[in-house]
Amino acid sequence: MNSATQQKPAAAPTSADGNRKRIGLFGSTGSIGTQALEVIAANPDKFAVTVLTANSNFELLIEQAKKFRPQTVVIGDESKFQTVKQALAGTGAEVMAGDQSLVDAASLEHYDMMLAAIVGFAGLRPTLRAIENGKSIALANKETLVVAGDIVMQQAVEKRVPVIPVDSEHSAIFQCLIGETRNRIEKVVLTASGGPFLGKKPNYLVNVKREHALQHPNWNMGAKISVDSATLMNKGLEMIEAKWLFNLRPEQIQVVIHPQSIVHSFVQFEDSSIKAQMGLPDMKLPIQYAMAFPQRIANAFPRFDFSKSAQLTFEPPDIKTFRNLGLAMEALYKGGNLPCVLNAANEIAVYGFLRNRIGFLDMTEVIEQTMKKIHFIPKPTLEQYFESDGEARSFAASLMNL
Ligand code: NAD
Ligand code: MG
Repeated sequence: MNSATQQKPAAAPTSADGNRKRIGLFGSTGSIGTQALEVIAANPDKFAVTVLTANSNFELLIEQAKKFRPQTVVIGDESKFQTVKQALAGTGAEVMAGDQSLVDAASLEHYDMMLAAIVGFAGLRPTLRAIENGKSIALANKETLVVAGDIVMQQAVEKRVPVIPVDSEHSAIFQCLIGETRNRIEKVVLTASGGPFLGKKPNYLVNVKREHALQHPNWNMGAKISVDSATLMNKGLEMIEAKWLFNLRPEQIQVVIHPQSIVHSFVQFEDSSIKAQMGLPDMKLPIQYAMAFPQRIANAFPRFDFSKSAQLTFEPPDIKTFRNLGLAMEALYKGGNLPCVLNAANEIAVYGFLRNRIGFLDMTEVIEQTMKKIHFIPKPTLEQYFESDGEARSFAASLMNL
């Protein structure tokens, strides 16, 4: 069976703005969002931003809107509506507020591609709405596929909407698959840096705090994904993301620790040949690739220098210590609503850890107990995914006295 992404490259969406692709940037104030705006600013002839959304950082949202002049600006936090509206008076931007507006904005006519850069479960509904409306998706928000990957990808196929990964590992796999439409994948190997605690054991991890977990050696990312990288949950979420993006069986997805973050992932084909995609760790590259696909755009990003970084090393992950990865693998293999439950419990656990309510290793306990507690549903409807998410969040929060 051919993989879902071994599809023919989709034509760049035609837009009503000359040849520029109109980007709806959902989650514009985050790490991915701000880097996407750097890419857009560097390519004004190729991209325009017509929708900007943020949850609470209204100051940065206002600044971005004044610079990029989108037609629509959405602030999740309704208490900031008047402030944003007044600040943008005279710019011509329509300002909306609230969670429902975030979803409604996904139906707007005046954008071609959604860059899904909201973090967590909150990204699911806007992304589904964009797909319903036939928008191309550049997907950074991996949780959308972890929670409801079957429904999201099915809808994308029905609507003939390309879902182009922004996550660096999945972008690597996607790039390795170009030209391989007729060939079968034997397996994919996702590379993981190992995060800031690579090589550490539980007696060390029991004492680590928020500040340590947020210091990633190779990538500068939002708080949630930084903690996920430190626990290796991020790689577990990415295994589930890969399953849906590339239509793989769980046993076709492996993880290898590669501390230098130069090889972004591997694809092995049936003839034993392995392809890899490489480059310096810089999210602007996969962001630009997804937005410009099927084109590559010349840029001045720093280049990898073989004479300076001769050592590329690989080792198996330590899932006895980093048990979150094992839990995510269990969810990957069992499927149903378990990945959704895992994700919800993880979001709550990370929230608790970031507020110093629980320790680093306690996050695993919260997730494991929530996975045991919530009723297993083998083939959930979208409604049941929402219910499982809500139940898992409440139970996980109760474990932490939140
Ligand atoms: P971030 O925390 O830096 O930014 C998140 C963005 O989402 C912000 O604009 C915020 O306003 C918005 N947001 C947060 N909660 C929201 C809510 N409840 N409703 C609406 N909007 C909300 O996160 P990030 O690091 O940019 O990551 C974004 C997504 O991309 C995540 O799913 C992450 O896993 C994925 N990703 C990030 C990186 C990276 O390098 N940062 C790499 C690969 C994948
Ligand atoms: Mg990644």
